[in-house]
Amino acid sequence: MSEYIKIKDLFEFNPDIKEMDDDERIQMNHPNCPAGQDTKQRLFITKKGAKWLAYCHNCTNHGGMTGEQAYIRRGGQSLQIEGELHLPPDLTFEITEQPVEHVAWLHQYGIKPSVQSYYDIGWSEAWGRTILPVFDAEHKLLAYQRRRVLRGDQGPKYLTTRLEHIKNPVFRSSPKRNPTHRNGGVLVLTEDILSSIRVDQGGFDAWSLLGTYMTNNVVDEIAQAGYEKVVIWLDDDNLAVRRSQKVMRRKIKQVADVYVMRHGDLNARYGDKTDPKVFTPDEIHTAITRKLAQ
Ligand SMILES: [Zn+2]
Repeated sequence: MSEYIKIKDLFEFNPDIKEMDDDERIQMNHPNCPAGQDTKQRLFITKKGAKWLAYCHNCTNHGGMTGEQAYIRRGGQSLQIEGELHLPPDLTFEITEQPVEHVAWLHQYGIKPSVQSYYDIGWSEAWGRTILPVFDAEHKLLAYQRRRVLRGDQGPKYLTTRLEHIKNPVFRSSPKRNPTHRNGGVLVLTEDILSSIRVDQGGFDAWSLLGTYMTNNVVDEIAQAGYEKVVIWLDDDNLAVRRSQKVMRRKIKQVADVYVMRHGDLNARYGDKTDPKVFTPDEIHTAITRKLAQ
């Protein structure tokens, strides 16, 4: 009953597969599984760098695919460089050298020029994308993201390049100061960088995971930083995210109290975006304060 699983054919059943992050795993039902329809979500899709790997525990069939998109996502050669990572040489912070789409995208989420310069957010003409760097406390570059903003850009929303040995680079809203434990030692975990910046403006420390996957290293870092309460605030919009939230909650529970921000907490309707960046700092502050009081 050996049959190759074509990962491309699974896209239509689960579009999230296309957008998977490095090391992320998705569980789903195996459509037309040769061992029977009741597959109990036991088809595992794993993303390893440029590759997707599939294994169905119901029928024991495998599949693999290397994606062109995945190569771009990994930033070409960048991951080959050990201990060395550089921002695009043409990175510019001059508004006159930036396209209106870039300016408009940042403006849309209230990211003012002073904030852009604090976080070194700029534009690379060579990439044709907004550049979002990720630094550690010593201002060492761990990763950077290139965000799609131009209309004609057909690539994935984010292209991420990271240092090879940093599996799960984390963007910190307050990289230059030690955990301040503002508002009672609360840390908010978000998917994207802009959301973390907005949460910070709302009065809470925030880390962005650059996706919805979190390694155990991050849990260790949360424990080391001494945060007592962690709010997981992802874009609570699909099953894959729900699963990530569950896994994250279980891991973090061992080191801190965990709260998961949900659609219902935000008076959002089905289909509404609910990541922090779509809210104002005041709204974010209120939502987190309410969540912590539950
Ligand atoms: Zn199967």
